[in-house]
Amino acid sequence: MDLAFSAEDIAFRDEVRAWIKATYPDEMRARVERSPNGHIAREDHVWWQKKLHERGWIAPNWPKEYGGAGFTPSQKYIFQAELAAANTPQIMPFGLTMVAPVIMKFGSPEQKAKYLPDILASNVWWCQGYSEPGSGSDLASLQMKAEDKGDHYLCNGSKIWTTLAQYADMIFCLVRTKSAPGKPQEGISFLLIDMKSPGITIRPLVTLDNAPEGSQEVNQVLFDDVKVPKGNLIGEEGKGWTYAKYLLEFERGNPYSGGLRKALARVRRIAEAEGDGAGRLADDPGFQARIAETEVAITALEFTELRIIGTLTAGQNMGATSSILKTRGTELQQQVQELALEAIGAYAVPFNVPAHGKGSNLTPIGPDYANVTAPSYFNGRKTSIYAGSNEIQRNIMAKLVLGL
Ligand SMILES: Cc1cc2nc3c(=O)[nH]c(=O)nc-3n(C[C@H](O)[C@H](O)[C@H](O)COP(=O)(O)OP(=O)(O)OC[C@H]3O[C@@H](n4cnc5c(N)ncnc54)[C@H](O)[C@@H]3O)c2cc1C
Repeated sequence: MDLAFSAEDIAFRDEVRAWIKATYPDEMRARVERSPNGHIAREDHVWWQKKLHERGWIAPNWPKEYGGAGFTPSQKYIFQAELAAANTPQIMPFGLTMVAPVIMKFGSPEQKAKYLPDILASNVWWCQGYSEPGSGSDLASLQMKAEDKGDHYLCNGSKIWTTLAQYADMIFCLVRTKSAPGKPQEGISFLLIDMKSPGITIRPLVTLDNAPEGSQEVNQVLFDDVKVPKGNLIGEEGKGWTYAKYLLEFERGNPYSGGLRKALARVRRIAEAEGDGAGRLADDPGFQARIAETEVAITALEFTELRIIGTLTAGQNMGATSSILKTRGTELQQQVQELALEAIGAYAVPFNVPAHGKGSNLTPIGPDYANVTAPSYFNGRKTSIYAGSNEIQRNIMAKLVLGL
């Protein structure tokens, strides 16, 4: 396979680069760079997504008939790498890359017409209601109940670790519609629920990297006699497990190398500025060797991404190979964050987060890069857990990729 980009691809890369430069405001970039988890205010995310929508680029993975960008696989790759390299706000995946492919494949014509245009235009913010207290890796053991009440389901139970539920207008949930004996996967259904429904409570879960405001990330969502119209059921009752697994392939199959290269370049800059008392860290042969090893691993991942993404056409999912990207990508993210933490040295010690909270008048300790590195390191522990832990990904690869 030829992994070199064509002249058209290079021209496309230049076009994307120029558009980002002209469109992405410096103040927003500064806010992204100060955020320990990459999240900024809801309105900033929505503003950026609407800009991409205006340009026709918000949905690189959607088929053109639904308003997708119509990129070739290499354009898709270049586009995502350029966004990562410019450190643009994260495109929220819950609508665009998670529930939308499920609605396209399994939703009714009415559901497609109702939900897809608003997802494309970022008019509606979605969140993911899969995990429950006691049901994470063993997701099929989930207990949230949806009882058939004729024209609606009555939902009771709770979802946990729900990312940015506080911003969400809608939540897609796995619920138990039948508790028949047999495989726990049977009797699970896929429901779309309006977050304004009476009976829903959002309880924030405060984590180590939480700033006083602006970076609240995960929540518990409680459902107490919540009425959900029957029209909000995706596909067939009891087939939710099939739809849930289809969604997860999209959640996991992202390219990581562009962001990793940018993050490693930042570590190099810190190591050139910081020392350990005996000289610059950048001149330390042990540190240099670890940077070089990490760079080699990122290049290997980049080639794997090009190989996998190059075999796909618009709207296709990548199946179990998405577990390869998720596992290696997140392992390398953590490796780079560890190097960054080491590079900032003593600046990792102060709890600096309040100093860069919105509206704070506290003076941050040390240079700019010192403030966000330790919170980002702590926040980054999540990446090998969410979207299915890396241990679970290894089980999937062993079974479905290696056939063991
Ligand atoms: C920051 C963050 C955001 C998240 N956002 C969302 C969200 O928006 N929506 C949502 O639904 N969920 C979300 N999650 C939940 C996430 O999907 C679960 O945390 C994850 O699936 C692991 O489940 P658990 O936390 O219950 O851990 P457990 O399943 O209890 O696992 C504990 C440990 O045991 C290991 N383990 C478990 N089973 C096996 C096995 N069979 N083989 C080998 N090892 C195993 C796991 O790898 C892990 O190390 C989020 C999680 C985090 C941390």
